Amino acid sequence: MRTILVSGGAGYIGSHTVRLLLEEGYRPVILDSLVTGHLSSALPEVPFFKGDIADGLLVRNIVQDLGIDAVIHFAARSLVGESMQKPDLYFHENTAKTNLFISALLSAGVKRVIFSSTAAAYGIPEQVPIPEAAATIPVNPYGASKRMIEQSFPWLEKAYGLEWISLRYFNAAGALFDGSLGEHHTPETHLIPLILRTALGRQEQISIFGTDYPTPDGTCIRDYIHVLDLAKAHILALAALEKGVGSGVFNVGTGSGHSVREVIETSRKITGRNIPVLECPRRPGDPAQLVAEADKIRTTFNWSPGYSSLDQIIESAWAWHRKNPDGFPH
Ligand code: UDP
Repeated sequence: MRTILVSGGAGYIGSHTVRLLLEEGYRPVILDSLVTGHLSSALPEVPFFKGDIADGLLVRNIVQDLGIDAVIHFAARSLVGESMQKPDLYFHENTAKTNLFISALLSAGVKRVIFSSTAAAYGIPEQVPIPEAAATIPVNPYGASKRMIEQSFPWLEKAYGLEWISLRYFNAAGALFDGSLGEHHTPETHLIPLILRTALGRQEQISIFGTDYPTPDGTCIRDYIHVLDLAKAHILALAALEKGVGSGVFNVGTGSGHSVREVIETSRKITGRNIPVLECPRRPGDPAQLVAEADKIRTTFNWSPGYSSLDQIIESAWAWHRKNPDGFPH
């Protein structure tokens, strides 16, 4: 059985991936600082280390004591707005610490890493859907902090034989369909959780950030991808590295997008609740459209999204929000 160290395994995408790893016959081990992650009762009972990815001694001990075969590295800060306010925090937490983490892994003999990257690596796209080969000129420190790690990978591959896959997520969304595990950020800035909190009466209205974009209804278009489809992409990426498919960057998105208004309309339909909106100015740094060209991951990994219709995403997220209107208890 292969043992996989999952950094950030108590976070949103990490926790769903840990569950899927178990289902697929892997042995996941979690390393999480719990700064933004949660020890939820829905998190499976697997070896858990509370600690920092930059703690080289801890990382080497985990690798040696548990016999780690590969790593899925989620642990990171991920709020674009916060990264604009505190770029140094993002370069420290995401870039510097990841570099230390990978050095410790390599020195302990781990050569396979799946990395959480982001569509924010592209910045304002020149063409949509966005192919992996598009220019990467991030427009926020969050995207830059991830892109710098991607840029280090080919050098680490050359020098030490690192085998790596970087998954550029588009808009992760949705939850387990029974509502037992889902998305909880503090503060919450993402569209779908905020809409559903409005549906629950936890906030008065949902702000629409910009109604004058060059899109059919004037609001931004994003490629929403269900967290279970994202989790599956990691399992397939691991399998690809095991098969020697080779290192590289892959978009993880559906290839089609939905506008902010469309997401609100679908949420009204699914929740049956009134969701008041407030039309606001644009939010700085938001590209009009971010939609993945998803052919590479489909053909290379034989991956395809199974749960990423807007209805399925919102139904599952609604199940989570109704069961956990205040999120995780801690
Ligand atoms: N958005 C919005 N109101 C909100 C939060 C987000 O209109 O309260 C818009 C945002 O401008 C973007 C889209 O919804 O166009 C998705 O934003 P989110 O923060 O969920 O993800 P991002 O695309 O920034 O990663």
